[in-house]
Amino acid sequence: MAVVAYHCGTATVSESVVDGGLVWDLFHDCAEVTAQECGRGELPPSLRAAMLQQCGTFGVRFPAADRLAVMRVLRGRGLALGGLHDVLANGVTGTAAEMEVLRGQLAAAGVEVVVVAVG
Ligand SMILES: [Zn+2]
Repeated sequence: MAVVAYHCGTATVSESVVDGGLVWDLFHDCAEVTAQECGRGELPPSLRAAMLQQCGTFGVRFPAADRLAVMRVLRGRGLALGGLHDVLANGVTGTAAEMEVLRGQLAAAGVEVVVVAVG
C-alpha cells in the first residue's frame, strides 16, 4: 500500500490480484472528502510511480529452458516482438502485484519463476 498525492495528500492506493488479474483501489477519507476509486489492470502512471517508490520494484527472470513458453505468455500480454529479445535476456520488473499476475500466467504455461525484490 502506498500513500499518494490526492486532495490533502493522504490517500492510499493498493493493488491486488483477483482471478489472475490486477485490480487497484484508491481510498481517501478526511474531514472534507471521502473518495474511493478502483480499476482493473495496471495503475495509472502517477499512482504506479508512487507504488514502485514506496513498496519497491519486483522482478521476474525467465529460465532459458522455457523460452518458447515464455515467449507465448509475453506475446499474449501484448509485448511487441521487437522487445522480446531484451525482455527474455533481462527479465521484467514492476510492482509486486504485476509480477504476481505474470508469475501466475507463466505457471499456467508450465513455467516456474520466482518473484524477487530488485529495488
Ligand atoms: Zn483530503
